[in-house]
Amino acid sequence: MRYISTRGEAPPLGFIDVTLAGLARDGGLYVPETWPQIAPETIAGFAGRPYAEVAVEVIRPFVGGAISDGDLSRMAREAYGTFRHPAVVPVSQLGANTFLLELFHGPTLAFKDVAMQLLARLMDHALAARGERTTVVVATSGDTGGAAVEAFRGRDRADLFVLYPKGRVSDVQRLMMTTAPDDNVHALEIEGTFDDCQDLAKACFNDLAFRDRHALTAVNSINFARVMAQIVYYVAATEHFGREIDVTVPTGNFGNVLSGWIARRMGAPVGRLVVASNENDILTRFFESHSMRATGVHPTLSPSMDIQVSSNFERLLFEMNGRDGAMTREQLTRFRDKGTMSIESDQYATWIEPVFRAGRASDHDTLATIRSVHETTGMQIDPHTAVGVKAARENLRDGVPMVTMA
Ligand SMILES: *Cc1c(COP(=O)(O)O)cnc(C)c1O
Repeated sequence: MRYISTRGEAPPLGFIDVTLAGLARDGGLYVPETWPQIAPETIAGFAGRPYAEVAVEVIRPFVGGAISDGDLSRMAREAYGTFRHPAVVPVSQLGANTFLLELFHGPTLAFKDVAMQLLARLMDHALAARGERTTVVVATSGDTGGAAVEAFRGRDRADLFVLYPKGRVSDVQRLMMTTAPDDNVHALEIEGTFDDCQDLAKACFNDLAFRDRHALTAVNSINFARVMAQIVYYVAATEHFGREIDVTVPTGNFGNVLSGWIARRMGAPVGRLVVASNENDILTRFFESHSMRATGVHPTLSPSMDIQVSSNFERLLFEMNGRDGAMTREQLTRFRDKGTMSIESDQYATWIEPVFRAGRASDHDTLATIRSVHETTGMQIDPHTAVGVKAARENLRDGVPMVTMA
């Protein structure tokens, strides 16, 4: 499998190079040259099989022979062996036709563990095969940092630098980032906001000489291997229900929901994808108005979704543009300069209307949803999940199970 950049100028690369590079050198994001397909019989055959085996089946075409089946199976077994639940990502029921896919059973309780545990192993393996080392730099508002520390600590081939904003992560998150005894892990507390952390990380990557000298790599969802690892649980969820499902995704950088879109594109029976936002609702406004307009970020109860611009939207935009890299590049340059971007009505009709719905929740809605779920089920959901559950409840279809990513 070869990967091409959404901005059309970086050279195509294989799976290993894409995983180790993260971002393309033209500033774009890598996507596979073609989308692999998965047959309904293949999905049906996943029934009763361990999650790690399903993972190998789903990701094999993306890896495209770059890693042997034996190695891939071992890494998947190890990665998902760190989860506390034997099903890895179990389904629970909230109401008559509403469900949660529980993505929080990994070592740091963040959904980021699902992809990060595998990604760290894939990277270490690839680096060992090449006799290389890498430096992972990641900015975090809390969840990604802990998941990255837990996944990369003690790995032979990677040094990890995590940048987090002082006073703006929870104590648990801070301790997860700062108490790993391993020499290859470095947590840096930044006087500033998450955006300041992200600007520092971006500055490292944009200095190409620095980037090459330290072999920098990114492990946020601009790294395609992370998006790839997340496709697995959408496919597994469709197997669980044995029919078409709708999925609601609490969304920040559009990585998780993009993985759902890819599962659908591969042929998994995912009907609609509901993009759930908090008050930072650039995506919800886009789905309503067909135009994207950046405003400031304001802090909410669901900080992992407090974003200005969703970086992974670029991958969907590239598809909407008929995979025209030059056009995508031009659109995004204009967006960066002017802060707005629109799509044509035929693009909307083809790509958005049949698949996507959107919803938003204020902090008030979030608390009300946490309360109502607790009252009806006894379950206490987290604020990000609650944003999803609110949007899910507003987008139910008769007879189609609605699954919220928790
Ligand atoms: C990262 C994160 C999100 C946002 O996911 P994206 O892939 O960036 O859209 C939502 N909820 C939680 C709890 C997260 O950690």
